[in-house]
Amino acid sequence: MMSRPVAGVRNKTVIVTLPGSPKGAKENLQAIIKTLPHACLQAAGMDSRTLHAGGVKKLEADAGIASSAGNHTHAHGHDHSHTHGHDHSHGHGHGHGHGHGHRNLVRHTAPSANPMSNDPSLGPSRRNRESPYPMLSVDDALQKIRENVPCPQTCTSKVRISLCGQVLAEDVAAQENVPAFRASIVDGYAVVVPKDGNMKGVFPVVSVSHAAPGEAKPLKEGEIARITTGAPLPPGATSVIMVEDTVLKTLTEDGKEEKEVEILADNVSEGENIREVGSDIKAGSIVLRKGEQISAVGGEIGMLASVGAAEVKTYLQPTVGILSTGDEIVPHDRPGDLRLGEVRDTNRLALMSAVMEQGYDVIDLGIAADKSGTLEQTLRDAFSSVDVVITSGGVSMGELDLLKPTIERALGGTIHFGRVAMKPGKPTTFATVPVKDSAGERVPKVIFGLPGNPASALVTFHLFVLPALHQMAGIEPAGLTKAPVLLGHDFSLDKSRPEYHRAIVTVNSDGQLVATSTGVQRSSRVGSLKGANCLLCLPSGTEGLKKGAKVDALFMGQVRSEFRL
Ligand code: AMP
Ligand code: MG
Repeated sequence: MMSRPVAGVRNKTVIVTLPGSPKGAKENLQAIIKTLPHACLQAAGMDSRTLHAGGVKKLEADAGIASSAGNHTHAHGHDHSHTHGHDHSHGHGHGHGHGHGHRNLVRHTAPSANPMSNDPSLGPSRRNRESPYPMLSVDDALQKIRENVPCPQTCTSKVRISLCGQVLAEDVAAQENVPAFRASIVDGYAVVVPKDGNMKGVFPVVSVSHAAPGEAKPLKEGEIARITTGAPLPPGATSVIMVEDTVLKTLTEDGKEEKEVEILADNVSEGENIREVGSDIKAGSIVLRKGEQISAVGGEIGMLASVGAAEVKTYLQPTVGILSTGDEIVPHDRPGDLRLGEVRDTNRLALMSAVMEQGYDVIDLGIAADKSGTLEQTLRDAFSSVDVVITSGGVSMGELDLLKPTIERALGGTIHFGRVAMKPGKPTTFATVPVKDSAGERVPKVIFGLPGNPASALVTFHLFVLPALHQMAGIEPAGLTKAPVLLGHDFSLDKSRPEYHRAIVTVNSDGQLVATSTGVQRSSRVGSLKGANCLLCLPSGTEGLKKGAKVDALFMGQVRSEFRL
């Protein structure tokens, strides 16, 4: 596995040399990438006896490499969760070469003249005892989001790693041909093929063409030129014979150069082993389309790099602020035991990580106490630096649930929905607040008030916030991918509300997607999302669903198989 990408170690650095062709580089890197964590551990000086204690089989299993009999690769590694590094430095404007484009925003509804929320100054005895907000279906709630989230704005972005995750706001045409010159696909000899295709014979080596910029001397029939992979063909050459199909006949007088080479191939056609100009990508052709996302897999950004695109028009990515609320909430890492009533802040970390996983810039807004003034000021400050605020807590029916009153009464915002028929996540709230931007223009900022219970907060993030972020970033279709899966066991149903049941879907050896519950689904139990890669869309009902029944799943994470390919 390591033999093609020449590898070595110098001091404590593992050195890998990949072939120059993009395809070769990718294939070779793919072949070794799972072994690299292990190689690095060893290069860093970890005791190899300890490292190898579990045996090759275990190392291969840990690294996710199938051991194939007879082809013993000694390729081991460790699954380091931090190896899938995202570049979170990208995204929003500041110093990234983003020029703000024109604002193309949806009309913002005027602040609600008749707030439905409680007037907090009236106290608990005069609050609403039933939520005044109509209960929307999940589909209607998603429709409200589509209608009220600002349209994507465009900017100019440099083509560099931070482009990954962004979406193109225009088609990109190749400015150049790839390859830009007729290039050899193999190491061998450039030739001029005679009419009958028979190249057998001994030929003088008249020139050498290396993969380097420069001039190539013309070639005539009866002459050959030594050529390396990727080197330009001498003008006049019509084919390249692989070095494997040749024999060295005579040397120059100093014995340093090839003078004559015998060619063994007798049936050569024109164009063999030649990449013609523009045969990979034609100049002027569209290489990427408006709306395409630059993935981290490498194909899109590689394409842009290969045609010399230095800047592209993209959609500006939203910056997201995350705020926890509640007098009882303490930082997760506060030392010491909890006092009665205290709760460690689970949502801030969980939501920040979920946003970062999507590639958006995140701002930590901390924890706000349950006081109207505090919440109002925190939100006002936040809106000066973020496009979207996600709060958790403070949206239930308690007298200290201040988010809705603050949005409606203090910030002049509009609550588009404040209740959704679903389990978990009933009090999920979506609002827009008009905020003056630097140019003095009123633009809508988005706020999601997610329920305080951690499982509810994460489920509603994926179900409602993600589509909004996608829409703002120009990703279409927005939101989680939906696909039918089979239930791996019986599931009970909620009598009155559709449920978003956290589950682990795996692919079985027949290629079927099979769902297993993560266990107790109580909304306070963040563990119901541990290991979960999807939300099963279970309808409400009394009967329950049997093993093998088909339901839709919304995918939050990667689907793994029970076996290794
Ligand atoms: P609330 O919507 O504010 O009434 O909160 C509902 C429940 O979620 C309460 O038990 C809160 O203590 C809990 N909760 C709220 N915010 C958080 C948080 N950031 N981390 C963990 N639990 C929370
Ligand atoms: Mg609270």
